[in-house]
Amino acid sequence: MIERQGVPLILCAPSGAGKSTLVKKLCAEFDLSFSVSCTTRPPREGEIDGVHYHFVSKDDFERKIRQNEFAEWAVVHGNYYGTPLRPVLDQLERGKDMLFDIDIQGAAQLSLSLPRARFVFIFPPSMEILKQRLEKRGTDSMEVIEKRMKNAFGEIENAHWFEAWIVNDDLEKAYDELRSFYLSCTLNPKLRPQLLKSVLGR
Ligand code: 5GP
Repeated sequence: MIERQGVPLILCAPSGAGKSTLVKKLCAEFDLSFSVSCTTRPPREGEIDGVHYHFVSKDDFERKIRQNEFAEWAVVHGNYYGTPLRPVLDQLERGKDMLFDIDIQGAAQLSLSLPRARFVFIFPPSMEILKQRLEKRGTDSMEVIEKRMKNAFGEIENAHWFEAWIVNDDLEKAYDELRSFYLSCTLNPKLRPQLLKSVLGR
């Protein structure tokens, strides 16, 4: 018997807020399955096809859109990104909790298509600190940093509807808050429609 349905946990944050580190920590501590997105952006060094993303052509991506293969999709920083629907439904039905690292446009779509989805927004302590972090990473040109900063303003201005807000000023504290929220999500009675029957034995 399946004990409970899986939790779809959606994490959104502007680039540089520290989301990837929090995702890694949560996946290392708990048996969560990471939703592997499709993207048309080229792989970065060290990224593995099928692990970090499914890297697909623009034609392939557009065919998948037409065939309704995505739970959500969006154009982010000029490239297509989308969450394949079938594996998500399969995993959740099998009771597997899933983590989604997607942008705010995709999160808004999942709030309509995945009724049990839970939404966390991770903030940097300030826009100034966000800019400093992006500059310190040293991976992006000034032009890209300006673009990411502009996107960050837009995302933060639209974060009012999320269920949990975490300010990442201290990684351990932010992680503690994230794991507490995740654990509370796993207790949702709606994920256990059979529990009462099973406890009562009738
Ligand atoms: P990156 O190219 O740096 O890996 O990701 C850029 C942005 O795209 C990040 O904000 C990431 O959360 C978002 N993203 C990754 N996968 C998806 C997806 O499947 N759907 C949407 N809507 N956004 C995604």
